[in-house]
Amino acid sequence: MNEMQLKFLSRSENEVFARNAVAAFALPLNPSVSELSDVKTAVSEAVTNCIVHAYRGAEGWIGIVCKTDGNRLHIEISDSGRGIEDVEQAIQPFFTTLADEERSGMGFTIMQTFMDEFSVKSGAGEGTCVTMRKDFGGNRHVG
Ligand code: ATP
Ligand code: MG
Repeated sequence: MNEMQLKFLSRSENEVFARNAVAAFALPLNPSVSELSDVKTAVSEAVTNCIVHAYRGAEGWIGIVCKTDGNRLHIEISDSGRGIEDVEQAIQPFFTTLADEERSGMGFTIMQTFMDEFSVKSGAGEGTCVTMRKDFGGNRHVG
């Protein structure tokens, strides 16, 4: 068991900081290159969503809590921004509220595909919390 917490401003440069911080925290679990890349991509998508959707370019706090448990990495990424009225709709592939800004609506689908567990808790005006889990070594074969 290990745990860490991060709190940082919704500035675009912090997306790189966040994905690398989570990857560094996960290193003792001995992830494969592709597992680590999956985690970094998922964190990057979630943090980008906080920056572009939750706060719409304004400054606000983004929080990350990471816990390890055996070969598992639990990640929670939360904001106190505008929130999501209809989560079921938001997680559908290609659904976006910013189509005119060249968003493809694939962020949540990428998180869901690259991680072993994924869920979103949100409500209009309530902020958003994305919870994900990655199991390292899950699909590796011996011999
Ligand atoms: P892409 O990720 O492909 O650039 P996108 O961000 O629009 O496009 P998703 O990441 O799948 O696609 O998110 C879908 C929709 O959910 C967003 O368009 C936005 O309306 C809403 N959303 C996602 N994250 C948040 C958040 N943290 N706060 C408020 N709304 C969000
Ligand atoms: Mg997105």
